[in-house]
Amino acid sequence: MNTVAHIAVQHVRLSSPPRTRTCNANLAALFAVGSRCGQVAVHCRRFLLFSSPAIFPIHECDILRRQQRRHLDSTFSDVFGALAETESAIFARGEPLTFYQNVSTNSALRDASAAAEVALKEYGIEREMRIDLFDAAKDARASANTLSGEDERLADKILLEGKRAGLDLPEEQRKELESKNCNEEKGKIAFTPEELEGIPADVVSGYAKRDDGKLELTFKTPDVMPLFRYAKNPDTRRRAWEGYESHVAINAAVFETVLATRRKIAALLKYDTWADYITEVKMVKTAQGVHDFIADVESKLLPVGKRDRKQLPALKQKEEGADASEFYVWDWYYYDRLYVERTLDLADALVKEYLPVQEVVPTIMNVYESMLGVEFVPLSNDVEKGDIWHPEVQRFAVWEAGATDASGFVGYTYLDLYPREGKYSHAAVWPLVPGFVLADGKTRNYPVTAMVANLAKPTPDRPALMTHDNVVTFFHEMGHVFHGLLSRTKYARFRGTSVARNFVEVPSQMLENRCWVPSVLAKMSSHYKTKEPLSPELIDKIIKSRYVNIGMFMLRQLFFGKYDITVHTSKSASFLPAIHTSHNDLFSCRVGRLYETLGPPSRRNLARQGASSRHARTRFLRAPNGRLRRGIYGYAYSLVFAADMYRAVFAKDPLSPEAGWLYRKQILGPGGSRDEMDSLKAFLGRPPNSEAFLEQLLGSASQ
Ligand SMILES: [Zn+2]
Repeated sequence: MNTVAHIAVQHVRLSSPPRTRTCNANLAALFAVGSRCGQVAVHCRRFLLFSSPAIFPIHECDILRRQQRRHLDSTFSDVFGALAETESAIFARGEPLTFYQNVSTNSALRDASAAAEVALKEYGIEREMRIDLFDAAKDARASANTLSGEDERLADKILLEGKRAGLDLPEEQRKELESKNCNEEKGKIAFTPEELEGIPADVVSGYAKRDDGKLELTFKTPDVMPLFRYAKNPDTRRRAWEGYESHVAINAAVFETVLATRRKIAALLKYDTWADYITEVKMVKTAQGVHDFIADVESKLLPVGKRDRKQLPALKQKEEGADASEFYVWDWYYYDRLYVERTLDLADALVKEYLPVQEVVPTIMNVYESMLGVEFVPLSNDVEKGDIWHPEVQRFAVWEAGATDASGFVGYTYLDLYPREGKYSHAAVWPLVPGFVLADGKTRNYPVTAMVANLAKPTPDRPALMTHDNVVTFFHEMGHVFHGLLSRTKYARFRGTSVARNFVEVPSQMLENRCWVPSVLAKMSSHYKTKEPLSPELIDKIIKSRYVNIGMFMLRQLFFGKYDITVHTSKSASFLPAIHTSHNDLFSCRVGRLYETLGPPSRRNLARQGASSRHARTRFLRAPNGRLRRGIYGYAYSLVFAADMYRAVFAKDPLSPEAGWLYRKQILGPGGSRDEMDSLKAFLGRPPNSEAFLEQLLGSASQ
């Protein structure tokens, strides 16, 4: 690059990253709201009004008016173009509004943001059920028969959604299509400090102290998972598990009703079963596809499970004495962790010392920069000016590496990495503003993504340190950040992560593989005192720990999937007693009986469930639409693609920029604008298969 060009680039980068006409400015204004707490409620109400049904339908009435003017001879852009434009506005304005409830320190703003989400959801449902818009779309599709590419996909998707919502049905049947939702119940459980022995002090200090001296925790993952993994007292684990399993017991009463309603909906919409209705828009396409997938993987994993089942009960007896002859489901996480610590002599606490946040985070960002050919440029982060929503948030402009002018601008990203009061308690990425092409057909609306995580904070005697798990999570979430930033779609609805549900995790799962590559681990580690990287011995142990007890783990996942597909492919309630009888209450034995099918060596259940689990089934109902919509089988299903992609393209050189470019071009770039299977085939140069996945798992069995 010559000097003049270089200066020009610097100028563009440092002083004026391109801003879109409305969306990014809108975002900045919203963040400014967050920084001026006094005015928060007023601002939020104003934005809420802006994004409420009172505003958006104006555009939609306009669609119909234009169509009428043309005497039903509507064009693609009159209807589908206009619908897409409205949708882009909803995404671009709605996401930042609903985001605040996860990150703001101001409870009034969090409440307003949650209210905004409710308003947007209600509006979304109302919009989905607009028969007039659906009819307009059908007419426009009929008169526009030469569509191709993303335009064709847009039209087909909109029409399919209408059909799936029942808009093609006579009015009477349409009215029948109302289903019941399930309740989420928030539960808590309390223990004495002694009962919590073994749980790390930093976790226990986060539990609420009650007046009677007990410590209270919720059933959310960050609270309850460390208890399962570390609580020494088996009775503490049992009580927590029973509470965890039954805290949505309120849903038990509606379980059969919900299944019956789903059967009715499927019949009305002319699908064979509810599972066929749900899988139609997934990569797997049919319920039979789910059955076949589970059966295939399960048969191959059984030998791995058989090996695993001997290990943990033996360790339990060693710890708790010969009397501890039963291995319960609440023992699983505790002894799984202990097994890794004992057999591999690998403790999280030691590995952590080599993974300070200040070293790991920039290294991972560098890894992504070189692999994907991009560059992060830090931007000012002044809370007062509304750049960011909290002083700890970092803000970056992302550019193509070596960009010489504004055409190389990619988008913005925010990293909000540390825990604080009232903040979202897991790690996730929000596609705050979608990348898409504005209605003029030329101007690009730049994407904005935000990663929210909860990495440890520094203590007085040492810096913030990450466990290997934290590193994997950060690497994974970065994958979502780039899916949002690097897609190049025309329409906002196909942006980055807006792919079929069971493909969303594939890119990030594929990227995670690097966290078990010795050279990458050495590169990102630096002991907080000695500055030494992880030793080859420690790296070897970390790699070995990856698939410990994986057979049991995966079989359990598949079992949930099997249960899910069984109840959702049955055509009547008669299957319920049959399953109960044949499995002696399937629900109560969902883990125990599964492992019994592994056969000898003993008649003892490897993981007995205990008496508490009559409510286990209710956990399947925590999401209003049931697990099948999200796809329980999907966890294993997407790992198959992730393993295949990694082995076929990246295994030789996990950080290769050439492979990174192919990944950008065939996977990230198209986002949801083409069928995910087509993207996979283009990336692999052949149809995907499960060989790499099974080889990873089965190969681990012979270790
Ligand atoms: Zn993810």
